Amino acid sequence: MNLNKLIRKNVLAMKAYSAARYLVNYEDMQFLDANENPFGEWNRYPDPLQKKLKAKLAQSKGCNPDTIVFGNGSDEILDLLIRAFCEPGLDNVVTHAPGYGMYQTLCELNNVALKEVLLNPDFSLSAKAMLDSCNENTKIMILCSPNNPTGNSFKLSDMQYLAQNFKGILVIDEAYIDFSAQESMLSTMDKFDNLVIIQTFSKAWGMAALRTGMAFMHPELAALLNKIKLPYNINLFSQQFIVNELDNATLMHEKVALLLSERELLRTQLLQLPYITEVFPSDANFILFRSEYHSQLQDYLLQHQFIVRSRHTMPLCNNTLRITIGSPEQNRQLIALLQSFKPSAI
Ligand SMILES: *Cc1c(COP(=O)(O)O)cnc(C)c1O
Repeated sequence: MNLNKLIRKNVLAMKAYSAARYLVNYEDMQFLDANENPFGEWNRYPDPLQKKLKAKLAQSKGCNPDTIVFGNGSDEILDLLIRAFCEPGLDNVVTHAPGYGMYQTLCELNNVALKEVLLNPDFSLSAKAMLDSCNENTKIMILCSPNNPTGNSFKLSDMQYLAQNFKGILVIDEAYIDFSAQESMLSTMDKFDNLVIIQTFSKAWGMAALRTGMAFMHPELAALLNKIKLPYNINLFSQQFIVNELDNATLMHEKVALLLSERELLRTQLLQLPYITEVFPSDANFILFRSEYHSQLQDYLLQHQFIVRSRHTMPLCNNTLRITIGSPEQNRQLIALLQSFKPSAI
């Protein structure tokens, strides 16, 4: 891949914002350069390169720290990629539909066209259709696997085929990968210099409030994103908290295992309800299902303080609701509500 040919010219030419302390060793310095207040515990700007967090994450993922980029949520990383590669009003991004709604929002904000390729009726991906919809202005292709809102994973062989044959940056959004039976594309990262794997601390790790997403990619690409991101995008509390939390991976995996067994329990229950016609298999921490009575059901659940997500207006998703797997207590209450729901004629 010729990265310099793909990058927007102004981004390639720009100099990174530089703080006086970037180059020094943080620990043994007297900081009088950034107009901070000398008193207090949270008075200092955080490390813009997040070195401790990168070292820790690299250790736990078995990758190199210079392949990592952190974002204020993984949404920020997607935004950085669009801004690095897509010339507004000219370039485009290709993704699949249905998929994650934020891709559309970010493209619109950046005045970049988003081309959506319909998945097959069983929500599987047609790699060929994805490639066919690309043109010379397609700089980025985004795949979401496991996919939100459908819950299925795409075939590793299809994703590798696209990494091999797509001429731009292939982004795999793996927000739900820790719930998946399928392995991460991270293991193939060394083979493809155009591959970006995005993951997050918001779902399996249970730290959505800390707004920290992570991405793995070729060091040259990582250096580019680290150059253009806002310097202090990950606050100090998040950096410190996550460094400690990474030691508790066992606990995270236990929580994931519990959620997976709860997912199967909910699935079994959903399959028994007469007003539900289809329950889609899930590789994530939510279930999508189809019912003609989706709208009534959503209202009924809301009356009982349970908020679920309608996906009815999305392509291939007519009459569907998406339900997140909650705590065992929440799931039991939900199941009781679902069992006592009496649809009225529509
Ligand atoms: C939840 C989710 C994310 C995570 O976003 P953050 O900004 O990291 O909280 C990313 N992609 C998809 C598909 C999601 O569903």
